[in-house]
Amino acid sequence: MGFEHYDIFVIGTGSAGRQVATRCAKAGMKVAIADNREYGGTCANRGCDPKKVLLNASEIIARTSHMAEVGVTEVATINWQALQKFKEKFVSAMPVKTEDSLEQAGITMYHQSPEFIEEGLLIVEGKKVTADKVVIATAFVVNNFCNILISPVNFFKSNTIKH
Ligand SMILES: Cc1cc2nc3c(=O)[nH]c(=O)nc-3n(C[C@H](O)[C@H](O)[C@H](O)COP(=O)(O)OP(=O)(O)OC[C@H]3O[C@@H](n4cnc5c(N)ncnc54)[C@H](O)[C@@H]3O)c2cc1C
Repeated sequence: MGFEHYDIFVIGTGSAGRQVATRCAKAGMKVAIADNREYGGTCANRGCDPKKVLLNASEIIARTSHMAEVGVTEVATINWQALQKFKEKFVSAMPVKTEDSLEQAGITMYHQSPEFIEEGLLIVEGKKVTADKVVIATAFVVNNFCNILISPVNFFKSNTIKH
């Protein structure tokens, strides 16, 4: 059985993984990406973006209440349910937007945690795939890959790569 071969296989679709994947695809490489959660990573789904939606609203309250001394008489109030609904709508669009942009870049997508069988050989969604380079961009959950069969000579961490 022939394995699907990629130049680059990226694990993780957060800001880091997407950058690598799209840049490599733009450079003409054959790229695949995998995530075992919703596409887009922490920032888009659970971090920066939803935080900013909530923070913006609370900042308006803070600013108007601090302006009481200079004549601002109405302090804004938050309809918490409406704000949460807006945040949910904003955030729930992210995975689809992420997948659309990866698709447009010609990147193959997998929705599972790949498993290393041997160096450069992975199994994902029941398929065996090989890659010249595997980029692990899983942020804080690198420990899942402790049993990876990668020789130290071929294993670079982001802080050991020269930019
Ligand atoms: C509440 C909060 C607010 C934040 N606000 C800001 C901010 O305002 N500005 C800022 O710069 N940063 C902010 N951050 C930090 C920011 O979210 C991270 O720096 C950024 O998401 C890191 O990107 P990443 O691609 O390295 O990891 P992530 O975005 O975490 O992406 C890693 C991806 O890997 C996937 N993954 C993990 N394990 C596997 C596996 N075994 N198989 C397949 N996929 C896997 C995960 O599902 C995830 O999608 C915030 C974080 C939080 C939690």
